[in-house]
Amino acid sequence: MSRVYNFSAGPAVLPEEVLRECSEEMLDYRGCGMSVMEMSHRSKMFQQIIDDAEADLRTLMNIPENYKVLFLQGGASQQFAAVPLNLCSLPGASGKADYILTGMWAKKAHAEAARFIDAQVVASSADETFSYIPDCSDLAIRDDADYVYICENNTIYGTVYHELPNTKGKVLVSDVSSMFLSQPHDVEKYGVIYGGVQKNVGPAGLVISVIREDLVPEGQVDGCPTMLNWRTQVDAGSMYNTPNCWAIYVCGKVFKWVLNKGGLTEMAALNQAKAKILYDFLDSSELFKGTVRPEDRSLMNVPFVTGDADLDAEFVKASQAAGLENLKGHRSVGGMRASIYNAMPVEGVETLVAFMKDFEAKH
Ligand SMILES: *Cc1c(COP(=O)(O)O)cnc(C)c1O
Repeated sequence: MSRVYNFSAGPAVLPEEVLRECSEEMLDYRGCGMSVMEMSHRSKMFQQIIDDAEADLRTLMNIPENYKVLFLQGGASQQFAAVPLNLCSLPGASGKADYILTGMWAKKAHAEAARFIDAQVVASSADETFSYIPDCSDLAIRDDADYVYICENNTIYGTVYHELPNTKGKVLVSDVSSMFLSQPHDVEKYGVIYGGVQKNVGPAGLVISVIREDLVPEGQVDGCPTMLNWRTQVDAGSMYNTPNCWAIYVCGKVFKWVLNKGGLTEMAALNQAKAKILYDFLDSSELFKGTVRPEDRSLMNVPFVTGDADLDAEFVKASQAAGLENLKGHRSVGGMRASIYNAMPVEGVETLVAFMKDFEAKH
């Protein structure tokens, strides 16, 4: 067996210890004679798995009592619709929301919301190919906006908010897909904080939404599909229908892995140290350049270029041959991108930098 260093943006590298445990439990989960993929989601065994997962996530993120935790399907993209459908149906809602565009995922979320509500753009970094986070200290947020929406870590462009926007008292909704569990979040600053898990937490097909309880509609909402109404899933403990049992199980193991590493503060320190190795090299290199304004750099997704598309392609090819996988940039931006999530060992980043130095010396 040989494992590569996998720099994929998602689905992405998972901790080897977690994969090993899953493989050990594959044929016979704790003496029940079947795998987690085969068991009823209504069984005691599975209820324990989802309860433990929620409890561990609450510990990790320090989630207050008045927030609900939902394990949902449809990915982060499904929440692009669920957010406006739920939040703009609450008593007194205006049906207006303000969006900050910092990349493709924020744009998609905005476009989806605009199908249902009056979704306005209050700031954007599209003018410079989303290479920075706009100043969000004094935005023209509407007095009657139901919420303000951000994508907090921009997977494709490699930017992150180091400071949350001033929402002028409005509910903040944040997509944290590509930074989930990479650092502490002060959950109380958010109305809704959610992410697809396949970037930094688990297998694809699961999105976790942490929602302040007063933002969950009381009952069914006109025009909102049953499955997208958060109330449905809150009342059913995320099991209105069959959930993604396997993904919940693996995420539960990753939660324990992060807890064992010392939790999110320790994770953040590890991630800072890893990212620094790569950014320090990019800042000193004559050949490779980071594409993001330094103060807005993501710790998770690091895009870079040589400035020559042919050389970029040669680099990607050569890196693959050296066991460094998935360094090609997103198809919409080109160049390279190294995603260095929680499960990427520091040795992976060191190996990448050594490879880049060597490539530079030869070109
Ligand atoms: C990948 C990604 C998404 C889309 O996730 P799906 O689960 O595939 O819908 C949304 N937002 C961000 C920030 C992402 O990185």
